[in-house]
Amino acid sequence: MSGNEALQSAKGQNSNWFWPDVKTFEGARLAARYGFWVAVAGVAITGLYATIALLRRSPFFNITPLAYFDMILLAVIAWRVYKFSQPWSVIALIFYIFEKAAMAIKFGKPPSVLVVFFVFMYFQGVRGCFGMAELIRISKSKESDISVDTQTKRCPQCAEIIKLAALKCRFCNYEFNPGEVEEAVGRRRAEIKSHATM
Ligand SMILES: [Zn+2]
Repeated sequence: MSGNEALQSAKGQNSNWFWPDVKTFEGARLAARYGFWVAVAGVAITGLYATIALLRRSPFFNITPLAYFDMILLAVIAWRVYKFSQPWSVIALIFYIFEKAAMAIKFGKPPSVLVVFFVFMYFQGVRGCFGMAELIRISKSKESDISVDTQTKRCPQCAEIIKLAALKCRFCNYEFNPGEVEEAVGRRRAEIKSHATM
């Protein structure tokens, strides 16, 4: 193990739980799970308060039974953020800030420490979902490069099998038209991609 590798594995083990490194799959998953769990907590709290309000027939901590709609939205958010949905992670954050800002203005109360904590967790959810999408995009483009690398063509001059991306035959030095090679590689890459997504 080289010094660099040792440093990287040490970093992986001591991954930052407070501010997960979303450039790694583990970190992105952890950050997205923060967003998921805070939405689950939202479902539980909203559901509980709305039920209490329903039973006592008056608002409970300013929450009415109408909050069941919020609860349903929060459940959808939790499920979508669990699946690393980028737009839903943003909707979750905006929805929460909007709701708390409206509450603060309506009742003239500054946001509590818990609200700041929830905003932080929803923000981690955004980081996680966007980090995961970026990681998947990178790994997909790498995959298609590897696949294209295994693609071959037959040299029209010496009939040997050579790499599709080769500009020059390694057996007879036959030279290919760079534009045509690029086009052939691009076409094959698109074929591989369409197969991969099927
Ligand atoms: Zn050749």
